[in-house]
Amino acid sequence: MRVHILLGAPGSGKGTQAKRLVDRFSLTHLSTGDILRDAVSKGTELGLRVKALMAEGKLVDDDTVNGLVFARLQDETQDVLFDGYPRTQAQAQALQDFLSKKHVGLGSVVEVDVPREVLEARVVGRRVCSNNACGAIYHLESKPSKQAGVCDVCGSPLKHRSDDTAEAFRARMGEFDSTYQPLKAFYADRPTYLSVNGNRHPDEVFATLETPFKEHA
Ligand code: AMP
Repeated sequence: MRVHILLGAPGSGKGTQAKRLVDRFSLTHLSTGDILRDAVSKGTELGLRVKALMAEGKLVDDDTVNGLVFARLQDETQDVLFDGYPRTQAQAQALQDFLSKKHVGLGSVVEVDVPREVLEARVVGRRVCSNNACGAIYHLESKPSKQAGVCDVCGSPLKHRSDDTAEAFRARMGEFDSTYQPLKAFYADRPTYLSVNGNRHPDEVFATLETPFKEHA
């Protein structure tokens, strides 16, 4: 088992690209945002604790998120693709320590780079499938569903994430700005680090982004 990491701002398209990568290379998709949203929708103790923070676009504390991730990695045998984790340098360091202890290798670390002015429009227009098992992602303008408000893939209603409003987006960008540069610096000089231009059609982004996964497959 190895772990791969996708880095990028909210709205960079890393969720969309993650879905394509896991389908293509048979990876286990580990999105901390999805795990946390699932806890919120089920009303678990964790969900109740993080609900307000998430709606405001703030980060959940490192220990909670690391604990969730390490529990998932414990019995994993397939290669894993992280989406939305690590988010801070402290998470990156904790992950590195965990992997070293378990003798698990770090594979590709890919940044999806999108100019700031493009991000907000992407996030505010984003609609996602309410069925967590599907999770298909749409955009009101650039990728509308065939029938308004209904998922093309599974027919479930689409929803607007509570942290995808303009206000919550700005809070999330604030968090991103204060954590991202040290996080990126943690990985940027690794030989398996790659930054791709995410301001292109998703097919073109994928064509660049899948290259290191092909090499390691
Ligand atoms: P995402 O779906 O990755 O945009 O995450 C949605 C929200 O979940 C974030 O705004 C945070 O509140 C929380 N979250 C997801 N991943 C992490 C993480 N690695 N560290 C802290 N909070 C996280």
